[in-house]
Parts: sequence; C-alpha cells; structure tokens
Amino acid sequence: MFKGNCGEPLPFTQGRLECLKETTVSHLPLLEEGLQSSDTPYKFNVKERYNMIISGLQKLTLLDFPGRTACTVFFGGCNFRCPFCHNASLVLGHGDRIEIEDFFSFLRLRKGILDGVAVTGGEPLLQPEIASFIQQIKEMGFLVKLDTNGSFPKKLRELVENHLVDYVAMDIKSSKKGYARAAGCAVDLESICESVDYLLGAPVEYEFRTTAAKGLVNPEDFAGIGQWIRGAQQYFIQGFVDSGDLLGSGVCAYTKEEMEGLRDIVLPYVPSVSLRGV
Ligand code: SF4
Repeated sequence: MFKGNCGEPLPFTQGRLECLKETTVSHLPLLEEGLQSSDTPYKFNVKERYNMIISGLQKLTLLDFPGRTACTVFFGGCNFRCPFCHNASLVLGHGDRIEIEDFFSFLRLRKGILDGVAVTGGEPLLQPEIASFIQQIKEMGFLVKLDTNGSFPKKLRELVENHLVDYVAMDIKSSKKGYARAAGCAVDLESICESVDYLLGAPVEYEFRTTAAKGLVNPEDFAGIGQWIRGAQQYFIQGFVDSGDLLGSGVCAYTKEEMEGLRDIVLPYVPSVSLRGV
C-alpha cells in the first residue's frame, strides 16, 4: 500500500489499492485533443514526451492536499533511507510504471472535477524534468502541492519563484543532531537548513512535518525541531503506522498521550502545531 510522502498513512486503503491497480494502466484513454497552451512566458519548455515514469497514481484524495480535492502522483526513488518509511517498494524502485502521457490523459478527464495534484515520492525533486512536468499540470489549470524532504533547495526555490507550486510540505526528519539517524543515511544538513530557511520566508503556503517514530525521534529531538523551525506557518506531527512495507525496523508508534506531549514540546516555538493520524 502506498503512503503519503514520508510516511503518513493514506486513508481508504483498499480503495486506494484498487485505484492503483486500476491505474497501472497502459489503457487509460488517450484523447486526441492537444494540450492546452498558454501565453505565459514560463521559464520551462512544456513537453509532451518525458524521460521519466510515474510509479503510482492515486486518483482521488481528500487529505493529501489540504482543503482540496486532488489526485496524488508518486515518483519512485529517494536519496534518504528513513527506517520508518512506509513506501519501501517505491523508494527502492519497485513501484508501478505509468507513462506520463497516460497520466495527462487521465488528468484531462478530471478538469473541473479535481482542484489539484499532489506530487510526491519517494523524493520528486530527484526527477530532472519535474519543473516541466509540474508546469504542464499548472497550464491545465490545476493547483499543485509538492512533498519534499528538503534536499534540493535550489529546485524548491525555482519552483516556488516560478509560481509552479501552490503548497509545499517539507519533512523535518528530526533535530539537526538526530537528522542522519532518522534519515537512515548521511545527510547534507546544509541543504536541509537552506530549504527550511527559504520556506520560513517564502511566498507560498507550506507546512513542516515530522513522523513521530518512537525509538528514532525522541522528545529531545522535538525540542530541537521547535527551535529550528521557530515561527513556522504550520507544523504537523504525524503518527507512525507500520504498513508492512517499511525500509527499516526498531521503530514503533507513540501513544496518543505521548503525541500530545510532543506537541506541547513544540508549541512554545510554533503556535500552529497539529497531530495527524492519531
Ligand atoms: S525514505 Fe524517507 S524521505 Fe524518502 S520517501 Fe521514505 S520517508 Fe520520505
């Protein structure tokens, strides 16, 4: 079962699974109409052919894009190896294979039905053609939400400053001190800090979020996170759920009461802290 980027459980598991089966498709109807063009002088050249493959498609989500009806596009591969990651198959490149052209055919049929598209992974900013891909979605009139682990601040800035994303959700894996442990690999912390600093003042709606993986991210780490993202727009602490497709082991969930305690640790630094999946 696919999860939201970086671990948050997605709802309607069976339905989602069926959607994914349904959309592992080479049989989505291809329309003959051309892509909508735009006179807007964007920086990127919109393509009709891409050298990238979508690894999963959730046709409808009411939760992945806050306040919007959306579909969710999953890109495989990630530069992190978070032990609590729910999408081991996706991260390790064993997802579905959905051609980009088939996705856009699907999307054309959702005009006027969906508000937006949630672009997630894995880490979607690993895809070299992601800007062009997102621009094509925007030119069709959809809003775009981007999930990222924050490793690519320049790409993030480029997307925001070209008005290609409407909402960014960035993971904060742990405190700076605990980051490599939570990410399961060596981390370029400078890049993560650059993304955090950028979003704190960026002209885009955003959220930071942390998966509360007990045994990996401790209460002291949440104090460090609060200090780090002080004054953030929104911060979510997400409950950990074992999907059965984890990258690692030795992680479990905090209880509801413990999660509330974690929220209290962060509240002095970030006024808008919410719990998810509790
Ligand atoms: S490995 Fe970590 S950063 Fe990558 S998709 Fe999984 S949870 Fe997100």
